[in-house]
Amino acid sequence: MSESQNRVIDPEPKPGDRLDHALRPTRLADMIGQTQIKENVQILIEAAKQREEALDHVLFYGPPGLGKTTLAHVLANEMGVNIKVTAGPAIERAGDLAAILTNLRAGDILFIDEIHRLGRVVEEVLYPAMEDYALDIVIGKGPSARSVRLKLPRFTVVGATTRLALVTAPLRARFGATYRLDFYDLDAMREIIEVAAGKLEVPAEPEGISAIGLRSRGTPRVALRLLRRVRDYAQVRADGTVTPDVAMQALNLLNVDARGLDEMDRRVLRAIIEKYNGGPVGLTTIAASISEEPDTIMDVVEPYLMQLGFLERTSQGRVVTPAAYEHIGLEPPRQKQPKLL
Ligand code: ADP
Repeated sequence: MSESQNRVIDPEPKPGDRLDHALRPTRLADMIGQTQIKENVQILIEAAKQREEALDHVLFYGPPGLGKTTLAHVLANEMGVNIKVTAGPAIERAGDLAAILTNLRAGDILFIDEIHRLGRVVEEVLYPAMEDYALDIVIGKGPSARSVRLKLPRFTVVGATTRLALVTAPLRARFGATYRLDFYDLDAMREIIEVAAGKLEVPAEPEGISAIGLRSRGTPRVALRLLRRVRDYAQVRADGTVTPDVAMQALNLLNVDARGLDEMDRRVLRAIIEKYNGGPVGLTTIAASISEEPDTIMDVVEPYLMQLGFLERTSQGRVVTPAAYEHIGLEPPRQKQPKLL
């Protein structure tokens, strides 16, 4: 198991997060933060309802754990329709997608997570389905083969991806609306933790909640996981209440620092600083030097480091900023001398 799978602050889902289902907001009004997206989505829903049509196809993108799946379910609830959940890698053949599509009813939502991982052949079946609500099937083989067009009910694709750049242009063009989810601010994080603590019946002091919020990387999934770990600690080592001290002790024990970085983030920063003099250095080189997958670093580690202003992506590679040196207690290099001509 690579270290990334053991991280308590990994924003990717883990088995222990199954309990999050109970904490997942079901209505738009219960979703905390993401004000602009919520407003846009509200308009989308009302317009579709007024016209008595299916929702436009919607694409959500952004780092994991920010609420893309939650939004898809909220859309289905608000529209009062069924949702069928699948993921790019799960639809292996065109026939798999055809089977899903022919089972949809008018207005239904088809949620495709990791939509950037759909195969090319499958994607080509999706184009006419999204655009014309049609499914082209080839009957027979060889010279006598002919194509038959089946009509599909008007349905909605809700796509989610952590990598917009990997979604092909023709697929992107078929979405009526595309929204980017950003990391949550501290106020929103506090509210999410407070509501979850209430539902889990965990007594928590406001400063205890803030301590967790500060270290949750602006990511609800991480916040909920840290809350559960802190709750365990409070129960075993204290009287059950999440006080600031209890929260700090629990989070220190988990190796999550004051800005929400863990050992893996620090290893990435240290590798760039110590082995490549702060960069610029390419992603694959960094990944190889710490034995991690480039995809994990790109999807999970980098977005938050960039959000904190600790890392920059330049055309020559990744560069660590002076703020990052300071955070991990190293002296930033003096300004590089301009080259003499
Ligand atoms: P993604 O699909 O982007 O990886 P999810 O939708 O699965 O993320 O969200 C992870 C968890 O975070 C959910 O189980 C949900 O409980 C919680 N969550 C996400 N967004 C919000 C929000 N805006 N308000 C409250 N809880 C949220």
